[in-house]
Amino acid sequence: MNVDQIILNLEKKHPGEKEYLQAVKEVLESIEETYNENPQFETAGIIERLVEPDRIFTFKVPWTDDEGNAHVNLGYRIQFNNAIGPYKGGLRFHPSVNLSILKFLGFEQIFKNSLTTLPMGGAKGGSDFNPKAKSKSEIMRFCQSFMLELWHNIGAETDVPAGDIGVGGQEIGFLYGMYKKLARKHTGVLTGKGLNWGGSLIRPEATGFGVVYFAKEMLGTIGETFKGKTVALSGFGNVAWGVAQKATELGAKVVTLSGPDGFVYDPAGISGEKIEYMLELRATNEDIVRPYSYEFENVEFHQDKHPWEIKVDIALPCATQNELDIEDAQKLIDNGCLCICEGANMPCTPEAIEVIQKHKILYGPGKAANAGGVGTSGLEMSQNSMKMNWTRKEVDDKLHQIMKDIHHACKTHGTQKDGYIDYVKGANISGFIKVANAMLDQGIV
Ligand code: NDP
Repeated sequence: MNVDQIILNLEKKHPGEKEYLQAVKEVLESIEETYNENPQFETAGIIERLVEPDRIFTFKVPWTDDEGNAHVNLGYRIQFNNAIGPYKGGLRFHPSVNLSILKFLGFEQIFKNSLTTLPMGGAKGGSDFNPKAKSKSEIMRFCQSFMLELWHNIGAETDVPAGDIGVGGQEIGFLYGMYKKLARKHTGVLTGKGLNWGGSLIRPEATGFGVVYFAKEMLGTIGETFKGKTVALSGFGNVAWGVAQKATELGAKVVTLSGPDGFVYDPAGISGEKIEYMLELRATNEDIVRPYSYEFENVEFHQDKHPWEIKVDIALPCATQNELDIEDAQKLIDNGCLCICEGANMPCTPEAIEVIQKHKILYGPGKAANAGGVGTSGLEMSQNSMKMNWTRKEVDDKLHQIMKDIHHACKTHGTQKDGYIDYVKGANISGFIKVANAMLDQGIV
């Protein structure tokens, strides 16, 4: 495999899709050696077939606001690869959504889902709709219109979407309601469902819990734990609140959280009633970071800055892609940070990752570290198929085991001669091998 040549060809075919090209390059570079040791992959054109999605749906989503004005957004679903199971991946509603971002997320999802050990292929979808400051009825009308187009192409055994940025329990509810009406079926076609209608316990906090379970394993490799450590966290969405809760439970102190306009630093720690307060604010669809600094004492708000300038032991970026750059990484390293573990997808830039790994700091890529979300979605699918519900403890134990297994796989494939674990390499190789072998078994399709 010639990675540079493949990327050049992809750039020609998909000019300007920078996030997608960034994600493909990162994966190809780290699996190059393994790939070249297995000539059967090259003969079967595995890479050429893997880097292009199986299919992409793009559609118009018209909806009306509360004043009766018409609006049109774009909707997408990218079915990337279903070699090991039905397409599976979240829906993102955010004004920045475009084909490049969804293709990067869909591509990463293939390996993440493979890592969970559960039978799920890779997909992603969403819209450039901005749910911020929209009323509940506007969001409902948008979701219904979105599903009116999407429902033909999804199904419990075909493609099972879930939440992501801008898509939480409320949106999944509206999407599911419309699907059910159109398909006249009550099936596990979406995950992240409400507990009364097919959802799984632990799913709302699963991604965050999983990130902490993964980071705990990473810390274990250097004889450390969360107890007594300070944690910088970014975002405060679906992922971040579970992280804050679990890290606190394990004895750490979470001292920051952030939004698009800056971050708050709360040296006393963000836990208990403060997390509850943030969750209430989130439900109102308003800005949550700045009001936090008015609500609690001795809290600093840093406008237009990243939390990575604060001296902490552990950094957990949980907001969005490319939110931690090389300068941020350098500050964390200079401040003695032990571990950087990604809750978000691709939050660290390639330059940041390079400097983190050069300094042999523990670095957990999102594809492994945040796989607990989709892992628990897989557990929701299993419960739906069996028409049974597991208890909170049963789901949490399974999630914990999944994260331990992912860590073990990363360690197996990523341990370097000097003992440093290259988790990027470990995650990419172990995720890739399973999918590539399944593609080999199934012929050229
Ligand atoms: P949410 O929309 O629930 O939360 C995102 C959070 O990040 C919000 O608090 C948001 O603030 C904040 N934010 C957005 N943009 C920025 C920015 N530029 N700088 C700082 N903060 C920002 O999304 P999720 O928690 O679902 O997703 C977060 C990340 O985790 C994404 O990368 C997603 O792909 C990934 N992920 C999510 C999973 C899930 O289960 N939900 C599973 C695996 C990965 P505000 O609300 O004010 O805009």
